[in-house]
Amino acid sequence: MAGKERKRCSFCGRTEEQVALLMTGMTGYICNDCVEQAHAILREEALLPKSDFEMGELPKPKEIKAFLDEYVIGQDEAKCALAVSVYNHYKRLMQRGAGDDVEIEKSNIIMVGSTGTGKTLLARTIARLLKVPFTIVDATVLTEAGYVGEDIESILTRLLQVADYKVEEAERGIVFIDEIDKIARKSDNPSITRDVSGEGVQQGLLKLLEGSVVNVPPQGGRKHPDQKMIPVNTKHILFICGGAFDGIEKKIAQRLNAHVVGYDSVQNSQRVDKSDMFRYITPQDLRSFGLIPEIVGRLPILTSLRPLDRAALRNILTEPKNSIIKQYVKLMEMDGVELSFDNDALEYIVDTAIEYKLGARGLRSIVETIMMDKMFEIPSSGEKSCVVTKEYACSQIEKSAVIQTSAV
Ligand code: ADP
Repeated sequence: MAGKERKRCSFCGRTEEQVALLMTGMTGYICNDCVEQAHAILREEALLPKSDFEMGELPKPKEIKAFLDEYVIGQDEAKCALAVSVYNHYKRLMQRGAGDDVEIEKSNIIMVGSTGTGKTLLARTIARLLKVPFTIVDATVLTEAGYVGEDIESILTRLLQVADYKVEEAERGIVFIDEIDKIARKSDNPSITRDVSGEGVQQGLLKLLEGSVVNVPPQGGRKHPDQKMIPVNTKHILFICGGAFDGIEKKIAQRLNAHVVGYDSVQNSQRVDKSDMFRYITPQDLRSFGLIPEIVGRLPILTSLRPLDRAALRNILTEPKNSIIKQYVKLMEMDGVELSFDNDALEYIVDTAIEYKLGARGLRSIVETIMMDKMFEIPSSGEKSCVVTKEYACSQIEKSAVIQTSAV
C-alpha cells in the first residue's frame, strides 16, 4: 500500500522484512534479535533469577548415592563420582552471576564399563531426582555436519525439548552421552582418510564440552531445513559420558606391562586383577583407544564400573526398588494373584543368565520366558496364588526356542 509507513524495530531500526519477527508494543516495535540481546544483557547484569534452589535443600552427595543404591546394585565408585559431580553442578549454578572471584569450573564425567553393567541405568536413575533438565543421547548416530546422520548440535535439541524450549533452563541442564566410544578414531593415524564418524565428530563435541554458543535446530535433524536455530550456551551444561570401550582392556594391559617391567614387577603383576582391567583405566588409555586428547581433557572425572558377578546378578533380580521380580509380583497383584518365586527358581534364573552369557540384561528375557504362559492363563483362571518353582522355570526355558537361539 503506497504511503503506508513501514513498521520498524524501535531499537535497531530494521524493517519487518529484515527480521524474523517484529513484536508490537503500545508505542513501538521490537524485533526478535533485540529481544535476545536484551535478554543477554539482563543475564550479564545478573538481573535474571539464577537458580530456584537453595543450598539447604540440595540433596547431599551421600543422599544422592543412597537414592542410587535403591535402584542400582554395586558400582559404588561410579555412584560416588556421579553424586559429587551432580552436587557440584548445582553449586556452580548457584554461583553463576554471583560476581565471585573464584569461578567454579564444571567437571564433566566419563563412565567406562562393559556393556550391561549399569551405566545407562545409573543415568536414568539419577535423572529421577534431578532438579534440572536432563536427557540421554546416543553418540552412535552422530556424524560430521554434511554427512548422513545427526549433527552434533542435535544433542542439545533433546535438552531444549525437555526444558520446554526455555533456553535459560536448558543451559543449566545435564546431558548423558551414551556410547561415546563409538566416535573414537578408528586408526592411530589421524589423517589417512576422512573419518566421518570419528575425529570430525569429536572436534564438534569438543566445542560443546568446552562451552560455546551453539545454534541448535529446535526440531532436530535435517528434516526441517527452514527451522530457525536457537542459540544455546553450553558453558554451564554438565556432560556425563558413558561407553563400553570394547577392547580397551588390551591397551590397559599393555600399559601396565610396560610399567611393571623391572623393579617391583613381580609383585605388581601379581596384584593386577585380570578379570577387571577397567579398574586400572587412566585418561591415557582413552587416548590410546582413539579419543582425542582435548576431549579426554574435558572429561576430568574418569570412573569405571565393575563387572557383575553371580552375587550381583542374584541381587539385581530381587533387590532394586523396581527389580524384575518385584515388577512381576506387581503385575500379578493387579489381577488379585499373589506371585512368589522359590529360591531355587531364582538361583536357576541367575545360572541360566550366566550360562548363556547374557549378563544383567538377560535376566529380564529369562524371567519373561518363564512367566509368559502364566501371564496368559492366570488372569482368567480365578487362581489366587502362584508359586514359580525351579522345575517349572526349567521346563519353560527348555520349551522356549527363543532364548536358546538368541543366546548363542
Ligand atoms: P549399560 O548402559 O552399562 O550397557 P544398562 O544400564 O543399560 O547397561 O543395563 C542393562 C540392564 O541391566 C538394566 O536395565 C538393568 O535392568 C540391569 N542392570 C545392569 N547393571 C545393573 C546394576 N548394577 N544394578 C541393577 N540392575 C542392573
